[in-house]
Amino acid sequence: MRVPLIAGNWKMNTTVSEAVKLVNEMRSRLDEITNVDKVICPPFISLAPVRELIKGSSIKLGAQNLYFEEKGAYTGEVSPLMLADLCEFVIIGHSERRQYFNETGEIVNKKVRAALGAGLKPILCIGERLEENEAGRTEEVVTEQLWSSLTGIDYPRGLLIAYEPVWAIGTGKAATGKQANETISLIRRNVAKLYGKEIAQDMRILYGGSVTAENAAEFINQPEIDGALVGGASLKADQFLSIVTQTSEIKR
Ligand code: PEP
Repeated sequence: MRVPLIAGNWKMNTTVSEAVKLVNEMRSRLDEITNVDKVICPPFISLAPVRELIKGSSIKLGAQNLYFEEKGAYTGEVSPLMLADLCEFVIIGHSERRQYFNETGEIVNKKVRAALGAGLKPILCIGERLEENEAGRTEEVVTEQLWSSLTGIDYPRGLLIAYEPVWAIGTGKAATGKQANETISLIRRNVAKLYGKEIAQDMRILYGGSVTAENAAEFINQPEIDGALVGGASLKADQFLSIVTQTSEIKR
């Protein structure tokens, strides 16, 4: 039985004081929901203060990125070891990083390895672009991204995958539950080819792309979908709480 998980990706939003306010608005109600893993991923600079605020609660913390080297002369970067000291999860390979920061499959692979090596739980994002979707290449693109991200990784302990069609991120144009379920089922079959059936059955695979309180149930009701990676709606306490509450009720 996979524990559902809802992760909020705050992206490059919120100052430290805004982050503190947002957590304070949600903390006690989120904490009451115990059959869903709730992960918030604020910007790096808010990780430490948010960690203090959620101490002793069931809310978990994640980062949005890392650099793959352990330490050294990499001005401005944050290492896996620094994060492992602060949080449990880390988003890797988000399409915005692939698009704006030229993250290739090779870089994503190095980051996943580094995260796993430091004991972090990576939320690996994969998904096709609009033109790839329209050309009927979703299966090919998603499969290639998955395999290249996991090259050389023998055992992906703690790894989660988020299927995020690029055309659905921040656009208000979500996939349908059925489409997302089919692609996630394909991803799970590929995980089984790589690591065997048992690991594939245990791995949590999320959907991400314009999930809101209004459409969340459509995704969460699908058998292959274990939760959501939520961007814009995770910045609104009521929306995020509603998505977590609905998940709790559906997956009970
Ligand atoms: C995301 O940032 O991963 C995301 C899915 O964003 P949004 O929910 O805003 O589409």
